[in-house]
Amino acid sequence: MDCVFCKIAAGEIPSKKAFEDDRVLAFYDLDPQAPIHILLIPKEHIASAAEITEENGTIVAHIFAVAAKLAKDLNLDKGWRVVTNVGADGGQTVMHMHFHLLGGRSMAWPPG
Ligand code: AMP
Ligand code: ZN
Repeated sequence: MDCVFCKIAAGEIPSKKAFEDDRVLAFYDLDPQAPIHILLIPKEHIASAAEITEENGTIVAHIFAVAAKLAKDLNLDKGWRVVTNVGADGGQTVMHMHFHLLGGRSMAWPPG
């Protein structure tokens, strides 16, 4: 499958890693939108959060646990944000589910 995040998970495309285990990879976004901008992905290909079910959804809890650990390790004590974009209207450009961990500045709401 021609998926850039599957290739990053397999080590075929380099990335600056923040965390890795058997199920999840976290790496720094190439085009950071905040002082800390990390992408968290399942190593298994899931196209987007629209594909999450009761059966495969435990990976989402694991990704959030990794996000919380990274935020603590990176001293994001004043707060942080997790975003997942879904589909065209959601602004998704890479069709492998990923969660943006953003921190290090104050965030606006609502997002654009
Ligand atoms: P989204 O628009 O939510 O699909 O987010 C995709 C994100 O992936 C964007 O923030 C891109 O900057 C980022 N991105 C794309 N290719 C790479 C790459 N090879 N390494 C790191 N980040 C990437
Ligand atoms: Zn993929």
